[in-house]
Amino acid sequence: MGVGVDVHPFASDRELHLAGLHWPGETGLAGHSDGDAAAHAACDALLSAAGLGDIGGLFGTADPRWAGASGVALLEETARQVRAAGFEIGNVAVQVVGNRPKMAPRRTEAEKALSAAVGAPVSVSATTTDGLGLTGRGEGVAAIATAIVVNHSPQSGVS
Ligand code: MG
Repeated sequence: MGVGVDVHPFASDRELHLAGLHWPGETGLAGHSDGDAAAHAACDALLSAAGLGDIGGLFGTADPRWAGASGVALLEETARQVRAAGFEIGNVAVQVVGNRPKMAPRRTEAEKALSAAVGAPVSVSATTTDGLGLTGRGEGVAAIATAIVVNHSPQSGVS
């Protein structure tokens, strides 16, 4: 199993892309890519579970191929690499931490978008920090994720 965390600051001149969805009318998130902290945390959880490092190593900010890349595109490529390394993806859980956007009305939609990208079930939940910290002050959005993968190769010792 693996864990991933990501944070992006709000940027008033950007469109919001979060948890695989576009959010018209909401303040966007800054970043080298689209700033989708939920998708990025899911990537890191999958890479962590497979022992493949982290999103910074796979999609470095120095690599122009990934400039402006959508979180969904990064998640699709991450899942492809995890499977190429011999792992089956069990599931991923992502929790979004922040005041905005309100996730509940679009939670099912987000789960569908992220699950399609991973090719395995992704659950989405959300919470606030009761006004504390960077998310409580409305400075940005954080996300934390876990993932379970299984290595079915004979040498792994897992049957
Ligand atoms: Mg990120």
